[in-house]
Amino acid sequence: MPTDMSQEPSAFECRRCGHCCQGEGGIVLAVKDQERLAAHLGIAVAELLAEHTTSKGDKVHLGVREDGFCLFFQDGCAIHPARPDICRAWPYFRGNLLDDSSWEMSLEYCAGINPNLSHQEFVRQGLEALKKQDVGVTGDPDAPCALRLDGIGKP
Ligand code: SF4
Ligand code: SF4
Repeated sequence: MPTDMSQEPSAFECRRCGHCCQGEGGIVLAVKDQERLAAHLGIAVAELLAEHTTSKGDKVHLGVREDGFCLFFQDGCAIHPARPDICRAWPYFRGNLLDDSSWEMSLEYCAGINPNLSHQEFVRQGLEALKKQDVGVTGDPDAPCALRLDGIGKP
């Protein structure tokens, strides 16, 4: 919750629990993500791909440690300014925006989602947040499904 009570309540504020940074192969890196992260780390994209990612089919995924966490999870995201779009977008994924039952399930999963606001308000703030970060995608069938906003409205 915001400390300034004059601000509107946020639909989401990360609690840094790491729950969403755990799991095999969930973080897909688009070319844009690869370039941003490589620049942030001061390495070439080829080195990033070799040292920090795995490939499945034609998709590139961020690597996962033996403990199941993302390689870059260290009491929060160690690459926060350069994190991939899929991490920037959470919890405002397509499913959570379109479907209030999906949003309700996400409330159980993610302590950062405000349970006291309506789904409608979650969607409103979510579209604003996606627009601000330029991570919502329309008209691109190759974009990760979670980031697609077709049928939801232009952020
Ligand atoms: S599950 Fe939610 S609160 Fe926990 S790290 Fe992920 S976004 Fe933050
Ligand atoms: S890049 Fe950062 S936010 Fe994304 S899964 Fe890894 S540690 Fe979590």
